[in-house]
Amino acid sequence: MAAPGEFELIRRYFAAARCAARRDGVALGIGDDCALLQLPASEQLAISTDSLVAGVHFPHDPDPALLAQRALGTAASDLAAMGAAPLAFTLALTLPDAEPDWLAAFAAGLEQMAAACQLSLIGGDTTRGPLNLNITVFGRVPAGQALTRSGAQVGDLLCIGGPTGEAAAALPLVLGERTAAGAHDARLLERYWHPQPQLALGLALRGRASAALDVSDGLLADCGHIAASSGVRLLIEAARVPLSAALRAAAGEQALSCALSGGDDYVLAFTLPAQALAALQAAAPYFHVIGRVTAGQGVVLLDAEGHEITPARAGYQHFGGPDGQA
Ligand code: ADP
Ligand code: MG
Repeated sequence: MAAPGEFELIRRYFAAARCAARRDGVALGIGDDCALLQLPASEQLAISTDSLVAGVHFPHDPDPALLAQRALGTAASDLAAMGAAPLAFTLALTLPDAEPDWLAAFAAGLEQMAAACQLSLIGGDTTRGPLNLNITVFGRVPAGQALTRSGAQVGDLLCIGGPTGEAAAALPLVLGERTAAGAHDARLLERYWHPQPQLALGLALRGRASAALDVSDGLLADCGHIAASSGVRLLIEAARVPLSAALRAAAGEQALSCALSGGDDYVLAFTLPAQALAALQAAAPYFHVIGRVTAGQGVVLLDAEGHEITPARAGYQHFGGPDGQA
């Protein structure tokens, strides 16, 4: 098939996609100069944008379906972190060339994740250049109920929505430094390429959690953001940090370090008043309590005796810095 021109490309792979169909809250989708969103006055629009650059956020020459899935899944994770219900997204795509097979696979991956997340494609941009993606997601949240990073209170519990470290442990597989073998490696690759934004958990946290975010740069580093925004200290008990069998198999003695600092997890970390614990466990039974909020600042890791352990590294920062690695 000949490479399509820009407008045919947009029509064939995006405007005609099932995920571009209009849904409640979308008054106008792809095809005009702007999309139009229509929300009742009682709701707020939650907006987040994410860029993914080849060679930085994903390897050069990735599987296009996996790339699309991962890009949209990680973007939707920010909606989960705010307790927002997914509504819509835009896609700005820069491509070296318009290769029909690549585009068809990319569109299929996008379709799959858009359906899983209940997100409508409402617009975007398509240009030629080195491969990169920008996705902006839009969600809806009852006015005043969004989960921010700044509400953690002394005495709250610190929780995470699932095990961390698995996506980081997949990196040697993703980069081709190690060949995948067996179910554990398959699980790690799944966690890297197919992040599951915790949208249902985010909704369950509304009116319950005091602060929340999604862990993208490493558990310690991201908990540091809650601590700083809320003006509190977070204590993490090392023995309560869940370590999956797949992570243990891949990382051995480094499993805890990987779970604390790895990045790319896209699970929620949140603080919860103790009296909200039972109700949340009934609504979302799969999260883990890993620590608590105290007075002070920063994030502290405790061993089984309650002594402070100094972690080797905090997390990933694109421009380096005092609390990260370059
Ligand atoms: P304009 O020149 O007015 O910015 P474009 O010609 O770039 O508009 O795009 C035409 C329509 O197609 C717009 O509604 C735009 O949002 C949509 N669009 C362009 N690229 C994409 C894409 N990759 N995915 C989804 N929609 C797209
Ligand atoms: Mg225009």
